[in-house]
Amino acid sequence: MESFNLDHTKVAAPYVRLVGVTTGSSGDKVYKYDIRFKQPNKEHMDMPGLHSIEHLMAENIRNHMDNVLDIGPMGCQTGFYLSILNNDSYDDVLEALEKTLQDVMEADEVPACNEVQCGWAANHSLEGAQSIAKDMLDKKDEWQQVFAE
Ligand SMILES: [Zn+2]
Repeated sequence: MESFNLDHTKVAAPYVRLVGVTTGSSGDKVYKYDIRFKQPNKEHMDMPGLHSIEHLMAENIRNHMDNVLDIGPMGCQTGFYLSILNNDSYDDVLEALEKTLQDVMEADEVPACNEVQCGWAANHSLEGAQSIAKDMLDKKDEWQQVFAE
């Protein structure tokens, strides 16, 4: 498991890091990113806001980037994994993330926060999601630096 080889005491969140590339038998490539919102073991996202920004990013990121396979939260509540098929552009990821977080800021409801479409529909906070998005956007110039200097 690659992420267990990352020294979480050496990173400087927020950042966007390519974790690895997996090539399938037909030559398709899956690019997996670590999008770290909060400094590991120092900060974390509170669950309702994290849950809502998960829904909002899942809904919106596909409008800004093709071939998104998945964007899902880390159990440590400090970031998300993003998996993309057949696009090796780091800059595309940065641009799509920025636009998606701007969508979060402009949202007036959380998509799919009901008991039919979600497994814990009571556990949401649009305000919390927007606070997370704002903190991330405010530090956009740090996203490309993964490790502390
Ligand atoms: Zn949900």
